[in-house]
Amino acid sequence: MSKLRKQPQTFFENVLGFFDNATQYTKHPTGLLEQIKFCNSVYRMRFPIRVGDDQYEVIEAYRVEHSHHKSPVKGGIRYSLSVDQDEVMALAALMTFKCAVVDVPFGGAKGGIKIDPKNYSVHQLERITRRYTSELVKKNFIGPGIDVPAPDYGTGAREMAWIQDTYAQLKPDAIDSEGCVTGKPIAQGGIRGRTEATGMGVFFATREAVNIAEDMKKIGLTRGIEGKRVIVQGLGNVGYFAAKYVQEAGGILIGLAEYEGAIYNSKGLNLDDVVKHRNETGSILNFRGAKNIRDTAKALELDCDILIPAALERVITEKNASRIKAKLITEGANGPITPEAEKILLKKNIMIIPDLYANAGGVTVSYFEWLKNLSHVRFGRMGKRFEEAAYRNIVEAMEKLTGKSLSQQERNVLVHGADEIDLVTSGLEETMITAYHEIREVQKQNKKIHDLRTAGFVDAIDKVATSYMSLGIFP
Ligand code: GLU
Repeated sequence: MSKLRKQPQTFFENVLGFFDNATQYTKHPTGLLEQIKFCNSVYRMRFPIRVGDDQYEVIEAYRVEHSHHKSPVKGGIRYSLSVDQDEVMALAALMTFKCAVVDVPFGGAKGGIKIDPKNYSVHQLERITRRYTSELVKKNFIGPGIDVPAPDYGTGAREMAWIQDTYAQLKPDAIDSEGCVTGKPIAQGGIRGRTEATGMGVFFATREAVNIAEDMKKIGLTRGIEGKRVIVQGLGNVGYFAAKYVQEAGGILIGLAEYEGAIYNSKGLNLDDVVKHRNETGSILNFRGAKNIRDTAKALELDCDILIPAALERVITEKNASRIKAKLITEGANGPITPEAEKILLKKNIMIIPDLYANAGGVTVSYFEWLKNLSHVRFGRMGKRFEEAAYRNIVEAMEKLTGKSLSQQERNVLVHGADEIDLVTSGLEETMITAYHEIREVQKQNKKIHDLRTAGFVDAIDKVATSYMSLGIFP
């Protein structure tokens, strides 16, 4: 009799697996856990767009709202051929837990359009985006108090601008319409620092973990980012900025991987030179002084201290996990490690900073952008000059008292009042540091929890459960 082959789990099943594993460390009733676990609403749509004179193409797209324990729900929109209902549901669920971990008061959602944006002209992409947005409006799946999309893989500020404009046209009365989407260009209500936010958050997360000597000792690393050998997979928005801040803090980028291949230099790669080289030649390969690795997946298996997968989900599976040599992995992407792979990595004493915390910097700054849109005022506008005048008075009083005067440069540093970018950066740093210690504490409080992902899920489940209970739905 032939044995039935075990079907590989889907991405959504992977996320549910992490969830289920964490529930054993919580004390919530089964009904409440079920409510938290599954997606509340799934909207699958198909619409036609004209691609030639009499040629049409049917586009498949999704918006999934995972949890309405808070409003609005929030999450990016992805343009990729890998988009399907399962993927969008998995990503929407992750958004719920991500927002909870960093105390961003939103439920989780995600959207996706099953296209490869490279196959369409800008004009066609605009038509697809605008049509998708009007489908969302029709079904009440978008709005500043309902569901607020943002960029994700394959989308950016340009697409968000189209979404905002379409929404505003359909809702001319909505005074808060700028808050219907985040990640917009600054001129259209965007916020300074949103583009860098996810990568910067990945950096803050890594730095916080690496700064705890006691934890580093357990995995055979010394304290601090400086001198650490780092490999980054994916040079998109998340990977690029994560790599940039790691390098600025003294980390050595020994490997960079993209879809065309990977490059390696044990002495370090200058990120901006690599990007320049890629812009000139169309590839990161053949970069001066670096070794080419044609099979890009192999870059994940190189010897390094810190590995940052910042591209797509499920790149570390049970097939390659045993060959991973990094001591610490920070998940810049959503879901880059499968549950089977995680078991193998943890057995190898590799520490994992999980996606639901590590890449939450994007949604954190999206939250700031949404607040800005609702308040209709730029952060720093009201206080900056007042603060500067107060600092100037203090500096002058000190100079008078001490009889010493500061140089212009010293004075400029001391009398600087906070502008939007200063506030966004410090708000993001505060959020990432606080959340790290919160999940680390959850892990420390429960001797049976051996990894930060489980701790993050426990933390998130507890917070979402508390919200539901405060709504009076569950006792
Ligand atoms: N797409 C990003 C994520 O996966 C950002 C979501 C947002 O800003 O709403 O976290």
